[in-house]
Amino acid sequence: MDTLLKVKNIDKYYKGKDGLFQTNKQVGALVDVSLEVNKGEIIALIGESGCGKTTLGKIVTGLVEPTAGEIFYNSKDIAKMTKTERNQFRREVQMVHQDSYAALNPSRTIFDSLKDPMIRHKVVKNKIEARKKLEELFELVGLTPVDQFMKKYPHQLSGGQRQRVLLTRALSVGPKLIIADEPVSMVDVSLRIALLDLMSKMNKEFGISFIYITHDLATARYIVKGGKIGVMYLGKMVELGELEKVLENPRHPYLQALLSAIPAVDIEISRKRRELPLKSVEMPNPANPPQGCRFNPRCIYAEDICEKKEPELVESRGRVIACHLEEKIPKWTY
Ligand code: SF4
Repeated sequence: MDTLLKVKNIDKYYKGKDGLFQTNKQVGALVDVSLEVNKGEIIALIGESGCGKTTLGKIVTGLVEPTAGEIFYNSKDIAKMTKTERNQFRREVQMVHQDSYAALNPSRTIFDSLKDPMIRHKVVKNKIEARKKLEELFELVGLTPVDQFMKKYPHQLSGGQRQRVLLTRALSVGPKLIIADEPVSMVDVSLRIALLDLMSKMNKEFGISFIYITHDLATARYIVKGGKIGVMYLGKMVELGELEKVLENPRHPYLQALLSAIPAVDIEISRKRRELPLKSVEMPNPANPPQGCRFNPRCIYAEDICEKKEPELVESRGRVIACHLEEKIPKWTY
């Protein structure tokens, strides 16, 4: 498969804070993160809040500068792109945000908000062409009757409808890659599947790749079929590989804990899963991560080495994993 995006050894450090005041201490929001997305592939990035997945999404779209590392899009280093290449990159790599209300201007109609990016990126020449194109896209994403939706303001739509509008806005400029940051987490549970199906349709019909950012393994599993999953913990990638392979035999203790936390319909199975394989349910402060393996204060398998040395990502069992004791960790069934 052709590589569309290559993220190489990305670091992102921020200045730390002591109360209200900035300190000179550097806080690693992302440390040495690498990732590849193939053309037409869906990859899920999963982890708790503060693990760095949203920061990574913003770095990929160019909204945030990394402290170190490189990003290649279609084999071109995005830091060295010409103005024309950069404009094309900006058009082809789109982000869909979690908070659909904040992502739309409340004082503009949906049509006004959506026509501007199309005209700016020269996808259409004028308002009339924009309207024609949007009519087709609104039909495709299920925002009908089209005329009524175009005239509405963001507050007149439901969360699910606003998310459809954001997906339409991304789709309208001809994207090759969409970074969808928790796109269904603020939407009513009953509407989530329809939105995930819409993203799958965009992937299948238009070959659009997705980086699907979430804390919810169930939705990641639903949308990523034949793609990859990357598990992040406190700014680091801890396990990355093909979804089927990784979930068939999850190796990192943090991923095992995430899988155990998914509620099952069967009450007995659910009760067993609730016995989380964790020493602590408290997430350490990302501004002051633990020494050695960042997961060691919570890991039931931790040994001395885990407190002293940070594990590298190494290849094992058809995926990459960062754990000193991967060979010894028992198979986890959930
Ligand atoms: Fe647990 Fe040690 Fe592996 Fe970290 S390196 S996940 S602490 S066993």
